[in-house]
Amino acid sequence: SRRFFVGGNWKMNGNKESLLEVMNTLNTASLHEDTEVVCAAPSIYLDFARSGLDPRFGVAAQNCYKVEKGAFTGEISPAMIKDCGADWVVLGHSERRHVFGESDELIGQKVSHALLSDVCVVACVGETLEQREDGSTEEVVYAQTQVIAENVSDWGKVVLAYEPVWAIGTGRTATPEQAQSVHEKLRAWLRAHVSDDAADSVRIIYGGSVTAANCRELASQSDVDGFLVGGASLKPEFIDIINARA
Ligand code: 13P
Repeated sequence: SRRFFVGGNWKMNGNKESLLEVMNTLNTASLHEDTEVVCAAPSIYLDFARSGLDPRFGVAAQNCYKVEKGAFTGEISPAMIKDCGADWVVLGHSERRHVFGESDELIGQKVSHALLSDVCVVACVGETLEQREDGSTEEVVYAQTQVIAENVSDWGKVVLAYEPVWAIGTGRTATPEQAQSVHEKLRAWLRAHVSDDAADSVRIIYGGSVTAANCRELASQSDVDGFLVGGASLKPEFIDIINARA
């Protein structure tokens, strides 16, 4: 069975004082043993997050570049993420795709390089409201997953995050049925295009306005293997979300 995975995506929020408070709350929480928890910190705070969180928590970067080093002002590499003691990177987040214009191709290159650098990847896919309304959700998430899959060397190091864009930061959570439906289809896609082993073992997590109030019902869906949490990951209720399947 797949180990429940809960990621906290802090996005561009907080400062050392407030993040220390978030980390202290997490450090003193009692956590379900079968849940893997990873906090995605702003890159300038990766070291700070790694030293502030106890070892039960993984640390992730929220983005990285596609090569190891060089003249790429403002970027960070997977090698630097590892050097800060972090093991994960979030790639293809909808804010990277839509605010910063990252293409499927670039995201694929980043996935490839991160995995080859031994950094685990939370790879994000998801449709916009317009795409959902015109019936192209499946086509969109399959196309995004395809480019990711072409660049995966080791599925054991990948978590797939389904984050419908219309649910991110909107308070409009996907219903458990909507989430389950897309997760089930993504798993079937993996079975058809990658392998039975990948389909059975890859965690597919849901993101988009997850809260303490809606996490249990979402977590009860058979293909929902965890969450990627934005706003609520900075609040004490994140602990309830971590323990949603307990
Ligand atoms: P919210 O939980 O704030 O909707 O953000 C979801 C998200 O984008 C996590 O990566």
